[in-house]
Amino acid sequence: MICEQCLQDLPVPNFPLKTGTGDGHEYRSKICRKCDRNNKKSAGLCVCGLKLADGKTSCLRCLQQRKTSVARKYQQDRKAALKHYGGKCAICDEDLEIFLTIDHINNDGAEHRRQLRGKNCSGINIGAWLRLHNYPQGFQVLCVNCNHAKGRIGEQELRRVLKEAGRII
Ligand SMILES: [Zn+2]
Ligand SMILES: [Zn+2]
Ligand SMILES: [Zn+2]
Repeated sequence: MICEQCLQDLPVPNFPLKTGTGDGHEYRSKICRKCDRNNKKSAGLCVCGLKLADGKTSCLRCLQQRKTSVARKYQQDRKAALKHYGGKCAICDEDLEIFLTIDHINNDGAEHRRQLRGKNCSGINIGAWLRLHNYPQGFQVLCVNCNHAKGRIGEQELRRVLKEAGRII
């Protein structure tokens, strides 16, 4: 199919489907996706055809949609990572998801975050990173309490303290 605007011969799926012409039928736009996007951009419109939000390159609706889908993806990745690494705190067995975090067993969390940034993955979260790296070894699930205490006194000492207090066996 040839785009009326850029005259390129492109595969049919590159032409957006349009509906709502009144006859109830869908038809393909005669202008390819890329040209369609450029036209909207130069007309000051979002890719969806709505007016742009102030100072943004998308409309409010698309911005909101993107935000919710990013948040949903983040939660999915987080859940999957927690599940993969045991689903409960490796030290005290806390299993309420809201309390759980992913911990770097060797305390190289700061180093790891630097690496992520170095690779220009800013904004990538640990859950997504773990998924993309097929859940490597060296990570465990800890609750926020154990995570915090481990950071202060180390895992061994924390286990000793918890045992002494009768919190773990
Ligand atoms: Zn085109
Ligand atoms: Zn939009
Ligand atoms: Zn714990």
